[in-house]
Amino acid sequence: MCGITPYDSGHMGHAFTFSIFDVLVRFLEAGGVRVKYVQNVTDIDDPLFERARRDGIDWRELADRETQVHIRDMTVLGWRRPDVMPRVSGEIKRIVSAASKLHSSGFAYRSDALYFDASKYRGYGRLSHRTRRSMLRKLRDEGLLGKVGPDAKRDALDFPLWRPSAPEEPAWPSKFGEGRPGWHIECSVMAMHYLGEQIDIHGGGRDLQFSHHESERAQSESLTGKKPFARAWMHTGMVRYEGRKMSKSLGNLVKVSQALQRAPAAAVRLYLVSHRYGRDWDFGWQGLARSARLVEQMRKFLADDERAGKRKTPPGRALMDEFNAALADDLDTPRAVRAMRAALRQRDAAALRGMKEILMGSAALS
Ligand SMILES: [Zn+2]
Repeated sequence: MCGITPYDSGHMGHAFTFSIFDVLVRFLEAGGVRVKYVQNVTDIDDPLFERARRDGIDWRELADRETQVHIRDMTVLGWRRPDVMPRVSGEIKRIVSAASKLHSSGFAYRSDALYFDASKYRGYGRLSHRTRRSMLRKLRDEGLLGKVGPDAKRDALDFPLWRPSAPEEPAWPSKFGEGRPGWHIECSVMAMHYLGEQIDIHGGGRDLQFSHHESERAQSESLTGKKPFARAWMHTGMVRYEGRKMSKSLGNLVKVSQALQRAPAAAVRLYLVSHRYGRDWDFGWQGLARSARLVEQMRKFLADDERAGKRKTPPGRALMDEFNAALADDLDTPRAVRAMRAALRQRDAAALRGMKEILMGSAALS
């Protein structure tokens, strides 16, 4: 799972992605599947260094602080913490050795940096279903196009594996000179080290599908010669606010802490997972308030049930079947939420508890 770049505390877009994956992990584990969940922290990245420079603090300090904010937010939202949360800065040796292997096997070449030769990977662009033109357009829009030429890369789709650091940026020694990793190689290296050469599910926000995951797949399969690198890719949609994509540059972020001032953690979490993971959607305060009302009804009913101390009955079979079928159908969380509403209507406390555990994790109801 591609985690955060820790330079600005978590907003609802992040919380949506990680809550959805928490439902997936909990659903798999409830079904008896052993899950190893790895979520990385991209603590080597341009925006992080820029922010640290702007605020006059050490990049490591900024990264530590914002990683803690992320963990705190997601803990309140009831996640099951990932088994491993590796940081890029702790993986440099392995990154250099992967880059070096790609170089010696002819998939990478040196000029002003060490570049991966995208033309060596058949099907570059197929993961994101993009033509060359559309790939180039996205790179240009994101300022990632870079220079093509005799002292730069050979083709605009090639991407750096290792590059010299700018002044004031951290640098590590390597056989390719002092420098730092390119963006994509980190995730290949961490995924392979902590999970193996082939993984079951790779997740992240949809904005990462190209160029990040496309590049990650190309270099991973080139490194190992094994296909596929990931058996399934899951990309979460973008969260909009007031009609526009929630983003730092537009300054329209709704932070997790702001939502928690208006509603209990379980309501925030329920509101997030009431949306289909692959679609874009609009965050709205009314929707959050509706989820808060449902959570309050659940809280009351479960508290009454507890107090009544009746003999425990097993959860209703039909309700649980529908809930499990919903999540087994490409993680249809809105349908699972409807099943949870039905459990509340039918006053089935055992079913409700089981469903709540998966959809809302350990998030508090009040
Ligand atoms: Zn990644």
